[in-house]
Amino acid sequence: MLNPLITAKRILQAAAQVTDSGALVRLIVERIRTALKVDVCSLYVMNEQGELVLTATLGLAENAIGKTRMTPGHGLVGTIAQRQHTLNIDHASQHPRFRYFEETGEERFEGFLGVPMIHLGQTLGVLVVQVRESRRFTEEEEAFLVTMAAHMAGSLAGNLKKAARPTADSQMPVLRFQGIKGAPGIQIAPAYVVKDDIRMEDIPERNGSGVDFERRRIQEALEETQEELDAGLDQLGAGSDTLDSLLEVYKLLLVSPELNQAIEEELETEVSASTALKRGMQRQIAVFEAMEDPYLKARAEDLRVLAVRIYRHMHEELTERIEPDHPVILVGRTINISHFTRIDRDKLVGIVSLEGSALSHTAVLANALGIPAVVGIGDEDLTTLHDTEIIVDGYRGQVVAHAPASLREEFERLTRQERALQADLSHLKTLPAETKDNVRVRLYTNTGLLADITPGLERGAEGIGLYRSEIPFMVHNTFPTEEEQVRIYRGVLTAYAPKPVVMRTLDIGGDKALPYFPIKEENPFLGWRGIRFTLDYRNILLDQIRAMLIANIETQNLQLMIPMLSREDELERFHALVDEAVAQLKEEGHPVSKPPVGIMVEVPAVLWLLPRLRDTIDFVSIGSNDLTQYLLAVDRNNPRVAKLYSHLHPAVLEALRGLVRECRRLNLPVSICGEMASDPAAVVLLLGMGVRTLSLSAFHLPRIKWLIRYLHIGDCIALLDQARDCATEAELRGLINNHLRDLGLNALIQ
Ligand code: PEP
Ligand code: MG
Repeated sequence: MLNPLITAKRILQAAAQVTDSGALVRLIVERIRTALKVDVCSLYVMNEQGELVLTATLGLAENAIGKTRMTPGHGLVGTIAQRQHTLNIDHASQHPRFRYFEETGEERFEGFLGVPMIHLGQTLGVLVVQVRESRRFTEEEEAFLVTMAAHMAGSLAGNLKKAARPTADSQMPVLRFQGIKGAPGIQIAPAYVVKDDIRMEDIPERNGSGVDFERRRIQEALEETQEELDAGLDQLGAGSDTLDSLLEVYKLLLVSPELNQAIEEELETEVSASTALKRGMQRQIAVFEAMEDPYLKARAEDLRVLAVRIYRHMHEELTERIEPDHPVILVGRTINISHFTRIDRDKLVGIVSLEGSALSHTAVLANALGIPAVVGIGDEDLTTLHDTEIIVDGYRGQVVAHAPASLREEFERLTRQERALQADLSHLKTLPAETKDNVRVRLYTNTGLLADITPGLERGAEGIGLYRSEIPFMVHNTFPTEEEQVRIYRGVLTAYAPKPVVMRTLDIGGDKALPYFPIKEENPFLGWRGIRFTLDYRNILLDQIRAMLIANIETQNLQLMIPMLSREDELERFHALVDEAVAQLKEEGHPVSKPPVGIMVEVPAVLWLLPRLRDTIDFVSIGSNDLTQYLLAVDRNNPRVAKLYSHLHPAVLEALRGLVRECRRLNLPVSICGEMASDPAAVVLLLGMGVRTLSLSAFHLPRIKWLIRYLHIGDCIALLDQARDCATEAELRGLINNHLRDLGLNALIQ
């Protein structure tokens, strides 16, 4: 008897072994046909033009594959796609929706069962089985096909779409890939697919060609790695201190007797040089990973990186510089700092990566360099795009390839418009962000990398409202020392002095992982994040605060901010730690003083805690990214629920309104530093609520200043009131967009 779940699982397991998309769809229809003992099994996949294409069949005429197409609503298959509903019928040819496609030879089959494959609400295709006799399929058969379709839609979506694409001789259809917005901007350029993003785990294992030969190979590779580290790396022009210290760590590890001993022992088992390297490293990694101290534990990741570095020297093709003749968009599973160091800065104009989130390494670097990035595209094969012109749309998180002329022109127009707008707005730099009715708004910038400091200043930021201190930790490959941190923070504080700089203490966990200190949790967003983590590792927090205080001695423009606060005692413990740092440093002879301390409102609980916290905080900053995610219970990085994530949700607006009112009552300065501060519609509402300080990325700053200079606070208050009557977020956006249109601010409409 058919067990739908077990059979479906077996087929999917077999499918997972197949990499070629054509072979994959053939395997699926063949296995389903056998499992159900039917005459026909066919797969129709929706192409980029919205047509359902017969992509694989066993039972219908094979030459109909790729030819038979229908639009939703057309024929039985089109009807299933349109209604997103199963059709189980005994007399297919008599059904009112039946259409005859001559090339298929379908007229011979009467029993028909078709189920839609739906992914994130969209129909991806239709799975059909048919039999000659006139019969309805059983409930069991239907359950099996529905199970198969659901799993296929979830796990094989990319491969299915690929299988539906015509082969090279026909005109290339437009390809769109949806990812996560990594860094804003639009860029059109050829893709450069990096093939070397290997991990230590990917190093293949095999037998060697003699111990002496393999020993020589590894010795050479170790020496070359040593030379490479000695020579240093030509870097991004900023943050090179960070890199130097990183190279120092590698050099020490490279010569460690324990590591060399482990590699030698492995070599003697007659394996290849790379296998000995991998296994020797794994043994050392296990030693570090077992350690309690987070600094030492973090060395495990250094070893992984080092292993790949040495391995590259055994395989020349992996160390080459990336030297295209023209500017390119780097495309890869991950794009990491090593890629940035191997390409000239003026040749790099965009980034696309299969992995990563909005705050991943890749996104952070792209933001710092001011180039668009789309990350987290997921399980797609982009290797065929090498040298193909692609469009990266960092505003929408989309990548488009083979764009028809009209679409390309549209994107070109957008880039021209954007450049013109930025140039037009440059005159705003020295003008205040002041509404028409003379209400002054403070515009600060969000930053994290040294390379990111200048754009904020160039665009007239009045200070830094959010310095994401975890970013230097993320682009590093080990915890930075106190001295390194002092250098980094001093660079930021000095560049902005006397303007204020709000430095947030380390906010890792959730989507922000340190490569050298992985935290594995079932629910990372509800787990060991921000202040929860650092209070458990007092030494890390103490080092960081000490470094910030020392860096602030000359400039005195530092303010400290606590991420992810959710309890009163966390604030008390934080203060105690800052007091301890001040006392220690004074004792050591440093003339430090305690800076103002504020908190981020990211956890909804804080909305009700403010009166209790009031006496021990100097300001609050709304972290609307996390606050929205926690209020709505929507993961901010999960593309499946991305459409549910909205800072214009009525509950979010109501919470913010209450929060700002409460701050006013408590005489507590309030600002906002989440992405909401760069959304023009949201800014109108925030001004209506009474927010007067916004912190946003340097890129968006001129546009928001432009907006503010056209607004009247009275209108903002009225729009905020009308927002309550809007039934949907779309209606609310429409309402504000009309207002922007009336003001002639069409370029700001999102
Ligand atoms: C936020 O949560 O709104 C915020 C600014 O912090 P981050 O995006 O770094 O989590
Ligand atoms: Mg946050």
